[in-house]
Amino acid sequence: MYHSDNLDKLVESLARFPGIGKKTAQRLAWHLLGQDKSFAFELSETIKTTVEAFKPCSLCLMIAESDPCPICSSIERNRDLLCIVEHSADIQIIENMNEYHGLYFVLGHLLSPIDGFGPNEINSESLKARISELKPQEIILALKPSSEGEATIHFIWEILRDSGIRITRLSTGLPFGGDLEYSSSNTLRSAWTRRFSV
Ligand SMILES: [Zn+2]
Repeated sequence: MYHSDNLDKLVESLARFPGIGKKTAQRLAWHLLGQDKSFAFELSETIKTTVEAFKPCSLCLMIAESDPCPICSSIERNRDLLCIVEHSADIQIIENMNEYHGLYFVLGHLLSPIDGFGPNEINSESLKARISELKPQEIILALKPSSEGEATIHFIWEILRDSGIRITRLSTGLPFGGDLEYSSSNTLRSAWTRRFSV
């Protein structure tokens, strides 16, 4: 049986991407090896440069090239609206929808005590500090519909219940357990415009 430690290592790294199984990782690895070497060298250089350039924004925790990030520092964003998401990548999806022009906050994880993700892991203290600083009129919970998403929505609602801030969540239509990124932009736009108070 064919075996190479270097190739195994490459396949294992590629298989860590979400949605990439071992077979796909093997195909990608062989693809990289079969191309002109400059393709792989450029790719690894681009990954290194980009990863080094990005760090969390100290206000919203989005991974960005500047701190504060371009969204927090923009004077054109509506500061009465704060959208809470799980990942920085969710912001890109919401921005692509071109429907929302407020600010964001990135939790980093959803609440899941059984997996070791408690209030500290979802950056709840930074969230509270950001909310008391901004005093938004509406907080939109754009979290994926799952039991962890529900637990997180409940937790944030508990924190804010007496604050007088309108708390909304996306309407159904997003598949349960599905990530925001897997929904089409039309589905997301519809869930967004039909958002309702928690
Ligand atoms: Zn920011």
